[in-house]
Amino acid sequence: MSDRTDSRSSALARPVGALRGVGPRLAERLSRLGVERIADLLCLLPLRYEDRTRIRPLGGLMPGEKVLIEGELELAEVAYRRRRSLLCRVADGTGAITLRFFHFNRVQQQQLVRGAHVRCFGEVRNGPTGLEMIHPEYRVIGAEPEPPGTALTPIYPTTEGLHQQRLRRFIQQAMAVMEKTDSVDYLHDRLPEGYPEFAESIRFLHGPPQGTDIEPLLAGAHPCQRRLALEELVAHRLSLQRLNLGRRREHAVMLKDERRLIAAFKSQLPFRLTRAQQAALNEILADLATASPMHRLLQGDVGSGKTVVAAASALAAASAGYQTAVMVPTELLAEQQHKTIAGWLSPLEIQVRLLTGSVTGSTRKQVLEETASGHAQVVVGTHALFQQSVRFARLALIIVDEQHRFGVNQRLELKQKGRKGLLSPHQLVMTATPIPRTLTMTAYADLDCSIIDELPPGRQPVGTAVMRQSRRAELVQRVRAHCGGGRQAYWVCPLIEESENLDYQAAAEVGRELSDALPNLNVGLVHGKMSASEKDRVMREFNSGGLHVLVATTVVEVGVDVPNASLMVIENAERMGLSQLHQLRGRVGRGRDASHCILLYKPPLTDVAEARLRVLRATNDGFAIAQKDLELRGPGEVLGTRQTGLMQLRVADIVRDADLLPDVIRISDELLTRFPQRVDPLIGRWTRGSSEYAKV
Ligand code: ADP
Ligand code: MG
Repeated sequence: MSDRTDSRSSALARPVGALRGVGPRLAERLSRLGVERIADLLCLLPLRYEDRTRIRPLGGLMPGEKVLIEGELELAEVAYRRRRSLLCRVADGTGAITLRFFHFNRVQQQQLVRGAHVRCFGEVRNGPTGLEMIHPEYRVIGAEPEPPGTALTPIYPTTEGLHQQRLRRFIQQAMAVMEKTDSVDYLHDRLPEGYPEFAESIRFLHGPPQGTDIEPLLAGAHPCQRRLALEELVAHRLSLQRLNLGRRREHAVMLKDERRLIAAFKSQLPFRLTRAQQAALNEILADLATASPMHRLLQGDVGSGKTVVAAASALAAASAGYQTAVMVPTELLAEQQHKTIAGWLSPLEIQVRLLTGSVTGSTRKQVLEETASGHAQVVVGTHALFQQSVRFARLALIIVDEQHRFGVNQRLELKQKGRKGLLSPHQLVMTATPIPRTLTMTAYADLDCSIIDELPPGRQPVGTAVMRQSRRAELVQRVRAHCGGGRQAYWVCPLIEESENLDYQAAAEVGRELSDALPNLNVGLVHGKMSASEKDRVMREFNSGGLHVLVATTVVEVGVDVPNASLMVIENAERMGLSQLHQLRGRVGRGRDASHCILLYKPPLTDVAEARLRVLRATNDGFAIAQKDLELRGPGEVLGTRQTGLMQLRVADIVRDADLLPDVIRISDELLTRFPQRVDPLIGRWTRGSSEYAKV
């Protein structure tokens, strides 16, 4: 097969308007489904399938089934009970069923008469007359038997004004174009054994033959689906890699530690950098010293010491005469980071400033001025940093902390905001969510990656125990004893069906209960419904020791640092994902005291939930946990459930299809180096016309 794929496949690249029956109005409707070119129709895959290949005997039907049936009308009458309806009794010798129509016209009444033969498709239900079908699709047929279809009927995502039937016809036309096109398969010689070809997969999925088992199709586990998922992931990785290559052609200021500040910085630290911190810092400094913008992801488990690496990086920028912006998700974190970084850098006469929504009045004015003049060398803040009113004189480095929920679009946006003339800023994105390597290489292929894979010496692992919900009262006594000794505790409330309202109610309930049970302790409450400033106020009180117990929904997940809190209780742990539990647990184990985490659960546990809890009890290693999470295929916890916008995928599901990732990486690398001419058509097939990546 040849590699001159792009010119030959041009028929598929034509707009859908080129198909028979597609005028401007339909083309507009199709574009709402992401279909602009003929090729897009091929990759518009069914959501599910209906089996209309077998005529089911009426004697063996069960309510809830969607089935194809056939028989003779024994009776047809209009009934007036409650609502006027047309009732037709169909029998086939094995049994009978009633068709019920609430809307019908004279023509239908004339067709549906006693003695007529009908074929129907619909859902079987229990009704007043026994088994019924309400408004089935039906056709009156001759007495001669007609064979049913030989393929399962695909059901597509549709949009208003575009019906299944029509969409099916367009897809059939697109497939006819495909059959006349050579070399539609860009991966044929790269696939592992046993994977079907592209055209075969498309053909199969748009009309699986009679007898195909629907279950694996619904689970996305059929080889044809996996073939396309693999291809889609390859296309996405390639588009991110190309983004990365494009960046090499951009320019940035070279940031060299000209004043040799980093050595001075390290010698005044109260600790030595770990080997992993030093290695990550070296990678960052090497990037900063080049004239193309850095775009690096720094991963390190909670407590691995990313802040000091960030501070040293900012120092390199300051040393070269440029500014750094450090962006964190909350005001409290901004204050913490500002305090830490200023504590380290001020002795070296570096000006570190804080800019959040609560910095107001004359202080704000001064910080803004110092930022605009370049006097402020490091500015720490929330995303308020990127407001219009904030101007930097010489911004060359942007550090984003704890933003594991940042998708590619936000990364691009950030870069736009930091852009000055022809120069792009260097970017360092730090995350405490350990991401397995294969996933990083796919979902973050536009970033280079550094990993801090060791904790500073002397850390005590958090002792983790798993306990039944029924022992909760005992646990309350344990909290009393713990906090009575001057220490603090977190109590993380149940997660209720993803609803913030119910979450809040449950948290308030637990808060009341603990206040009542522990009258001598101060119990505080934070939850997602509070405003940022309310949340900050409570967190601050906990931080300063004013509260003994902090009752919280899962909002405590993000980077709080209260070393005196050494006990955490997590309710309904069986409902949470592994990585989320690990992040939560990372809030304790930060001080000198041995720390404990109690995972409460309500039996019975599912196998997966049990496996998750077992992993947490056995290890504190975030990377091992993330890898396990991926294997157990929890509900998208590795990337965070809220991160669905990370990649817009049509067929693939990056968590469900995680086992494909090693092949995705190999194949995309091979295409880039050995078959670069296939890259563009492949990306084009899987990304939409106005692709987000095209805007870079
Ligand atoms: P994270 O990676 O979670 O952001 P931090 O940067 O907040 O971690 O570091 C956690 C704690 O560990 C801080 O108190 C920090 O001062 C300390 N720390 C960082 N690096 C080291 C080290 N090499 N040796 C000892 N302590 C360290
Ligand atoms: Mg941190």
